Amino acid sequence: MKTYKIACIPGDGIGKEVVPAGQTALDTLARKLGTFRFEFSSFDWGGDYYRQHGIMMPEDGLKDLRDKDAILFGSAGDPHIPDHITLWGLRLKICQGFDQYANVRPTRILPGIDAPLKRCRPEDLNWVIVRENSEGEYAGVGGRVHQGHPTEVATDVAMHTRTGVERIMRFAFGLARSRPRKLLTVVTKSNAQRHAMVMWDEIAVQISKEFPDVKWDKELVDAMTARMVNRPASIDTVVATNLHADVLSDLAAALAGSLGIAPTGNIDPERRYPSMFEPIHGSAFDIMGKGLANPIGTFWSCVMMLEHLGEQAAADKLMEVIESVTADPKLHTGDLGGQATTAQVTSAVCQRINGA
Ligand code: ATP
Repeated sequence: MKTYKIACIPGDGIGKEVVPAGQTALDTLARKLGTFRFEFSSFDWGGDYYRQHGIMMPEDGLKDLRDKDAILFGSAGDPHIPDHITLWGLRLKICQGFDQYANVRPTRILPGIDAPLKRCRPEDLNWVIVRENSEGEYAGVGGRVHQGHPTEVATDVAMHTRTGVERIMRFAFGLARSRPRKLLTVVTKSNAQRHAMVMWDEIAVQISKEFPDVKWDKELVDAMTARMVNRPASIDTVVATNLHADVLSDLAAALAGSLGIAPTGNIDPERRYPSMFEPIHGSAFDIMGKGLANPIGTFWSCVMMLEHLGEQAAADKLMEVIESVTADPKLHTGDLGGQATTAQVTSAVCQRINGA
């Protein structure tokens, strides 16, 4: 029987609650289907590890993940540790170390979810946002001089390479082609950012020629926020820079009803390294340890992981179960206006996997 080796990194806050829930759902699914199994290895990296060791994960930690088929990640964030340390020391170290250059974020209004847009029907909002995940504004290039003096200068330089933009554009056009509407919106800010963003626009034109069957258009990022609210049905697949897509996908998650539902995959499309799947929410310290976290974002991330592993039937089954659970308001957690606990949602998912 095929065994998938999965690294589990719960990280901080509610990551420690939702990742075990994800493992339980995956295990239940594997047992039910009986055609593959999972071998999980857990890593205690994150804020607590930082307090003990002064780093978020071991310097050479990537070597422990290298032979895994995929990584299931929770969140990184700690109220007592600066955000740039938690982000760069763990999540970005893995994304960049494994060149997971395509961050894929599907958004839909799942059954039973009361989304905030009054005039938006569930069928009007079915998007996938592709975020460039290896460079751009998150390249880490910049510095500070004269710290603390009136003359202090700080720079963050966005790095956009032709290779980086071509590969994410090709990935996004390919993803758009694989979806029924074959429709891609390329988001930039080429009116104000007149160097790199103009190169993005040029590369979009160039790569579009490889995908003549994909319809595509361009939008400035500020206009895109308004379009997402006012004309959601005009959007299908979206590609944008690391920072722009980061912002747009939080908006997308909110428009779909809750941050607690949205999933993401950090993908190495060439499959040289393991890809990493995680809910898009953060560590949510306000509710941690109370058993109130919504595990649906993690379950949906598990669906993406199963698709990446080539287990499409298992992915479809888990997604069907997730939708049947969100359709029941008694199984809504607090972020959705309900009172269900993480454990209740997880056990409902497992029961339905088992056909109960
Ligand atoms: P971080 O600093 O790690 O990004 P954060 O707490 O600032 O984390 P998020 O965790 O992304 O930000 O979410 C903001 C708020 O949304 C949380 O404080 C929490 O109240 C709510 N929330 C997010 N995810 C969930 C979830 N899975 N279940 C329930 N509520 C959630």
